[in-house]
Amino acid sequence: MLIGFGIMLATFVAMEGVAWGMHKYVLHGFMWFLHKSHHTRHNHAFELNDLFFAYYGTLAMLFFIFGSEPLDYRFWIGAGITLYGVAYFLIHDVFIHRRLKLFGKTSNVYLKALNMAHKVHHKTPGKYGSEAFGMLWVAPKYFKSAYDIVQKQQNEKGGTVHYKRT
Ligand SMILES: [Zn+2]
Ligand SMILES: [Zn+2]
Repeated sequence: MLIGFGIMLATFVAMEGVAWGMHKYVLHGFMWFLHKSHHTRHNHAFELNDLFFAYYGTLAMLFFIFGSEPLDYRFWIGAGITLYGVAYFLIHDVFIHRRLKLFGKTSNVYLKALNMAHKVHHKTPGKYGSEAFGMLWVAPKYFKSAYDIVQKQQNEKGGTVHYKRT
């Protein structure tokens, strides 16, 4: 069981690498025709790009099917892929793109850095020249800017309180 959880966590971490590589070399490569829908402004509820959820979902399901009865390591790989899919959906689709209005603004430096990095990714509408292809892992420079912004916001808040007191 403990080994199972270890495999699940390792898969989760590995999936960030897989997602990064897929995004950089495949989605912004020969599968741009699907991913393009995610880099174009629109007001539809779904995008062709959402097909990738079906792809990872199917992949996880296959691991579950072949890894149960008897339960083996493949089951835990399936669990890791599923966990990563849920985290990706919550961060990328709900928190960053606000497809569901669940979360408000955050003053969490990590979440702010993720948001900034991904907005920079979206600055480039085309297939080439984009950066920040990862999701949960962000380059340190974004942490630095996010940290500065949060500090500034907190100073401003402090300033208002001080102003009210006098
Ligand atoms: Zn992209
Ligand atoms: Zn996005």
